[in-house]
This record gives sequence, structure tokens and C-alpha cells, in this order.
Amino acid sequence: MGLLENKDDLKYLVDNLNFKEKVDRSLALIDEAYKRYGEGLVVANSLGKDSVVVWDLAKKVSPKIRGFIVTTRFKPKETKKFMNDEVARYPELKIYANDEADIPDKLYETDPDKCCDILKVEPVRRAVEEMKVSCWVTGLRCTEGRTRTDFREVEERDKDLIKLNPILIWKEREVWQYLALYQIPVNPLYKLGYRSLGCEPCTKITSEDNERAGRWIGTSKCGGECGIHTRPLTNVKGDGI
Ligand code: SF4
Repeated sequence: MGLLENKDDLKYLVDNLNFKEKVDRSLALIDEAYKRYGEGLVVANSLGKDSVVVWDLAKKVSPKIRGFIVTTRFKPKETKKFMNDEVARYPELKIYANDEADIPDKLYETDPDKCCDILKVEPVRRAVEEMKVSCWVTGLRCTEGRTRTDFREVEERDKDLIKLNPILIWKEREVWQYLALYQIPVNPLYKLGYRSLGCEPCTKITSEDNERAGRWIGTSKCGGECGIHTRPLTNVKGDGI
């Protein structure tokens, strides 16, 4: 049985593996998945600190691994510049957006779930289909906040689509440790105090413990999810988006 089939106690691993053991485990997960899925393995790069780590790990496994970025009209200018810099360095990163969608003003206030569905989930679905993704790789971590405690390193939530979360057991400190040790550039917004980055109207700086507490403050979605990790991504005809 390979690492992809592991049934390990993730809560135990979060607290008991050291930094090097976590890095080695993440590399082994990506390597095993790449051997199994080949070109079908694609990294979803949100341009946040966790994605940047996963992207770097994937490039260590194989420089050929491809990725996609989903952006929206509401991303901060710093994030857009960082995105363009990353794509210039890595042309195998493909950008997806839903810029042409006609949405009501301030939909992010009146119906943020719908706004995220249209501007974020739809482009991910398109990326999965167009890039013929059979295994998408994410930077999700189980210590990020209340909505992220129950994920597994390998999931098959969608038909014909495996999801690999290779840094699921990393703590926030270990992400920054990796970025510092390997001198990997990050979005300059982190210097201002943000801990989780999203669209400008929906992201605030907070001093709360919950890493994602600054997301969607003042809405029912506060500290929650955009839907990429919770909504179906394949076989979704008639899903209402
Ligand atoms: S994060 Fe906010 S602005 Fe961005 S897609 Fe979601 S609701 Fe809309």
C-alpha cells in the first residue's frame, strides 16, 4: 500500500512530525501521485503562501508539473502583480477567470456565495476540464480554521477527480519556515499583516487566532470557504451556476 492510501491519524501527525519529516512526506505524496497521474496532476495555485509552498514542492518533484491560477476582478493590485510575476517565471501556470460574467453591483455583500460560485468555482471547473485534470493539488491545511479540520490528504469528492492536499498537516509556522529557508517570494500583502489572502472587499487584517478569520467578515460566510473545496467540480450540469 502506498502513501496515497494511508489511513494515518492526521491530528497526531500535525503535532508529532518535525519540519523535515513533513516536507519529506509532502514530497513523497506529490511524487507518488505524479507517478500515478502523470500529466493529469495539476497544481491549483491561489498565490497564497500555502499554494506557493505546494508549487515549489511540485517543481522539486518535476519541473514539468503544470498549474492553474484562478483570479477575479476583485483581487488586490498587489496580488495581480504577484500573479503576473509568477506566470512570467513559470509559463506552465495558466490563468483562469470569469471576467465576462455580468454580476450585480456588490454581489459580494448581498450574496457572497453566489459571487464566489460565479467568479471562483466556475473558472476552477473550466480549468479542470480544459487541462484534463485527473488529480488536482491544493495548499489546504487542517489547522487553518474551523472549516478545514476534516479534510484528508487524498480525497475523491468528485467523480474522476482526485484531490491531493500534500501539506494538510503543516502548521502556519512551518509554511513560513519553508518559505524563509528556501527564500521563496510571497505576495507583499503579507507584510501588512494579512494571514489569509482573497479578494479585496472580502479580506481584512485581524488579530484573531483563526487564520481565516479575516475572510468575509460581516457575512454568513465569515471565516469560511469560497466553495472551491466544498462545491462539486465535475459533472455539474444544471448546478445553477
Ligand atoms: S471572495 Fe468576495 S469578491 Fe471574491 S468572488 Fe468571493 S464574494 Fe466575490
